[in-house]
Amino acid sequence: MHLQSIGAAETVTGSGHFLHLGGMELLIDCGLFQGEDTLEARNREAFPFDPSRLDAVLLTHAHLDHVGRLPLLYKRGFRGPIYCTQPTAALTETVLLDSARIQVESYSREVRWARRSGDEKSVEEPLYDEEDVHNTLALLRPQLVFGETLQVGKVRVRAERAGHILGSAFLVLDGPEGRVVFSGDLGNRESGLQQDFTLPPDADAVLIETTYGDRTHRPLAQTVQEFAQVLSQSVRLGGKILIPSFAIERTQVILYTLKHLMESGQVPRIPIFLDSPMAARATNEYFEYGDELRPEVREILRSGEDPFRPSTLHVVTTSQESQRLNRYDGAAIILAGNGMMTGGRIQHHLKHQLWKPTTSLVIVSYQSPSSLGGRIVEGADKVRIMGEEIAVRAKVHTIGGFSAHADQDDLLAWVQATGNAKIWLVHGEVNVMETFLGVLEGQGRTADIMPKEGSVDLQSTHFPGGRPPGLTVNPPREGRAEAGE
Ligand SMILES: [Zn+2]
Repeated sequence: MHLQSIGAAETVTGSGHFLHLGGMELLIDCGLFQGEDTLEARNREAFPFDPSRLDAVLLTHAHLDHVGRLPLLYKRGFRGPIYCTQPTAALTETVLLDSARIQVESYSREVRWARRSGDEKSVEEPLYDEEDVHNTLALLRPQLVFGETLQVGKVRVRAERAGHILGSAFLVLDGPEGRVVFSGDLGNRESGLQQDFTLPPDADAVLIETTYGDRTHRPLAQTVQEFAQVLSQSVRLGGKILIPSFAIERTQVILYTLKHLMESGQVPRIPIFLDSPMAARATNEYFEYGDELRPEVREILRSGEDPFRPSTLHVVTTSQESQRLNRYDGAAIILAGNGMMTGGRIQHHLKHQLWKPTTSLVIVSYQSPSSLGGRIVEGADKVRIMGEEIAVRAKVHTIGGFSAHADQDDLLAWVQATGNAKIWLVHGEVNVMETFLGVLEGQGRTADIMPKEGSVDLQSTHFPGGRPPGLTVNPPREGRAEAGE
């Protein structure tokens, strides 16, 4: 049972784990690195294996940082099956087509700029295009069903509910050498839409994500109440209420919450514009696979209603319609991507609205400090948006509790069920993993941080060659409230 990480070791993007089990070569997830340029450059690196020899890929869920390098795998020779749940297959199509579009668009923009300086040869080709995505999608095998086992060569694969986004699974792999569990991303048990994760079985080794391994989320009811108060105040200002939102899960949670708050009279029924074609497509998938969601959501569906469609919702499709919103008078909610305001239609709305004191910017997602959203949250009085300097006069509100990720209590509850499995920490910042490692070791568990390079024996109780330098273990910190993604 040897494993080599191809991403999300000591970082939170680019998830991918190359596993030898039962004489097979398997890859669990194949995500895109996102963020700083140096991190994104890693997308162009060769895989540490020959993609044409890989037996199969298994997906935990459809977020870009778990599926975004699949077309590269195809381009480099992989032609095997990609196993996933049905909703994951549907969302993967939406996510990869959007990713290809963004890459091709930013490539042509960069070429245009570079041509003016006579330097167009320096621009790197897009990672992949729409055709590569269609070829990749043809390899998807949506045969994973929660609680059922699929035989892949000598390995038995079982998908179980992870409760993170629609279709998200954790995977239990049984091979002749033993059992290993991959958590994928685990959900927040205070999620508005997803059913709680199920608990994993005893295992020999377990890989667990640690995004929020150092903190505790606030209860959802408090978050919803705060959201209602902020919206009611904002409506009184009479301007636009901008809600930057990620297309998958966050947008649907916000639409579901808005419908509830407006129908129960806690928030006035003002127009809501959903200005993100990708979020609109993802919302259709949530409706389609509504049976997967929490009982109270299924109840609404059964009564013939759409839980994601408040009565005042307008879905904006074309960019002309989006631009017309600049001239719309009166209070209205605009939901647009992307969540960190680093691109997408939200930037146009910010450019036109952020300087007005009647505007409200309601932040419901994690903002990385270097992003545009991060600078606004930190109190910048001016920001550059699409080459223009814009004053921040809008009221800025941050609502912290809509997280789709497990917090420390959730992670502990889940991992405790794995018996004496050796625990490998992935998908977290190093300081967060160190905190979580301290908590696990305090409970007598054997745990280590998955190294960025080289292959590890998953059952070894000690890091080969000792823990990497710099990874000292700190005593656990007080659980910090707040949450993001
Ligand atoms: Zn995720």
